[in-house]
Amino acid sequence: MAILSAGTTRLAALEGQTELKRAVVVGGGLAGLAAARDLVLAGWQVTLLEAGAAWGGLASALTIAGERVERFYHFVCRSDDALVGLARELGIEQRLHWTRTRTAFFYHGRHYRFGTPLDLLRFTPVPFAQRVRFGLHVLSSRLRSQWKALDDVPAQQWLVQHIGQQAYDVIWHPLLWGKFGQDEQEIAAAWMWHRIWRVARSRQHLLAPEMFGFFEEGSFTIVQALVDWLTARPQQVQLRLHTPVRTLQRDENSWQVQLMNDETLTADAVISTVALPVLVRLLPQASASYRQQLSSIPMIGVVCLLLRLRQSFSPNFWLNIHDPQVAFNGVIELTNLNLRLRQAGLNLLYVPFYLPTDSERYQRADEGLMSEYLSALRRVNSAFDESWVEEAYISREAYAQAVCKVGFLQRMPDVRAPLPGLYVSDSTQFYPEDRTLSAAIRRGRLAAACAQEDVR
Ligand SMILES: Cc1cc2nc3c(=O)[nH]c(=O)nc-3n(C[C@H](O)[C@H](O)[C@H](O)COP(=O)(O)OP(=O)(O)OC[C@H]3O[C@@H](n4cnc5c(N)ncnc54)[C@H](O)[C@@H]3O)c2cc1C
Repeated sequence: MAILSAGTTRLAALEGQTELKRAVVVGGGLAGLAAARDLVLAGWQVTLLEAGAAWGGLASALTIAGERVERFYHFVCRSDDALVGLARELGIEQRLHWTRTRTAFFYHGRHYRFGTPLDLLRFTPVPFAQRVRFGLHVLSSRLRSQWKALDDVPAQQWLVQHIGQQAYDVIWHPLLWGKFGQDEQEIAAAWMWHRIWRVARSRQHLLAPEMFGFFEEGSFTIVQALVDWLTARPQQVQLRLHTPVRTLQRDENSWQVQLMNDETLTADAVISTVALPVLVRLLPQASASYRQQLSSIPMIGVVCLLLRLRQSFSPNFWLNIHDPQVAFNGVIELTNLNLRLRQAGLNLLYVPFYLPTDSERYQRADEGLMSEYLSALRRVNSAFDESWVEEAYISREAYAQAVCKVGFLQRMPDVRAPLPGLYVSDSTQFYPEDRTLSAAIRRGRLAAACAQEDVR
């Protein structure tokens, strides 16, 4: 009898599957993929819609010389818990490796090592006392956990107060100016604190060099693991590339998701993982105040050059640059982190420019950008010339970085939109964290958890 009763219950549950809750997830980056997985695990019927031709969004990959290569550079830090946790759940933890890297500084025509406390003490562009203050500030930021008081303080003021004017001008100004341009003085100290904290936590102890993580095939490794996991559950999930959403409209009981191809999908909940300026356009019913909130956060774009070189550009993974003749503030040689790609014979150098999308440089044709890039790279390494370049790729992304100004906490949109059944994950909500893979996963999963809590 007991066995029969157990069987009866199970049959009823299976029949009930025709009434599964339905979600549409908009955007197939890591937030969307992670959200879709959690909803499937919770027994939902999920449709994941991606406008582009590939999964992964900002974490998508190119194929170069038969190898998967990040479109944008990505490194992992020890504190990236959501990313490491999901890798563990997916059984790909062993494909995430940790390695020591070298960091350096190119300052006014000279190279300095900049990866260890000893390097800092030898960094002569900054007076000795300020070098010590800089180190102590990194240490105190590493130990700090309360950050809300820093939301109202400008990063520049906070940094100058702790490390001194010259240390700020030489070390942090290029980062803040390079990323935020005119808005440098308004960036919140909380954002800066988290950046320092995240990297400082990547040292095992104060005197140890930085250790960063990388997946064997870059972020593609985790993107593909999620896609494989979802693809293996075709009864519960539909994955659609080349499927841009036109509008999201709420009727009495459900969401109507209208696609660019005029198809309409019905859902009990929608999770949006697109950038806020895109979401505003998708929501004709949003109130004026919600539209205003979503539109009020400025975003900057990125133009990122990826060079495949015949030989290594430098021994450094990260080379900070502060030089009057070079307009970008750093180059990243990913193959000095991901040694698997180096063993495959690749030398990959990324050169990002963070820019407003209406700036001349963002809109400049690739050839014009290339000639500026190449002469700047020659300035940084006098042996470098065009013959080193085997292949070049330029990627543009309009919504690469939220401009996190003082008082940002008040402006961040909540995961629950003011329309029932709509959940939002966007990089502006990562604050005080910078945009990371880990934060995208965490916010996507939070959106999925809220949908499960509300839609019963
Ligand atoms: C230059 C650069 C360097 C970075 N470096 C690092 C790093 O070193 N370490 C790190 O951890 N993180 C890094 N990041 C951040 C990381 O890539 C992002 O935080 C993360 O990938 C964001 O994922 P997401 O899913 O939130 O957004 P996205 O990846 O932007 O995904 C959103 C998706 O929505 C899709 N979409 C847009 N409109 C529509 C529509 N109408 N219909 C359907 N789909 C739509 C887009 O095509 C996109 O695929 C970097 C980012 C950049 C730009």
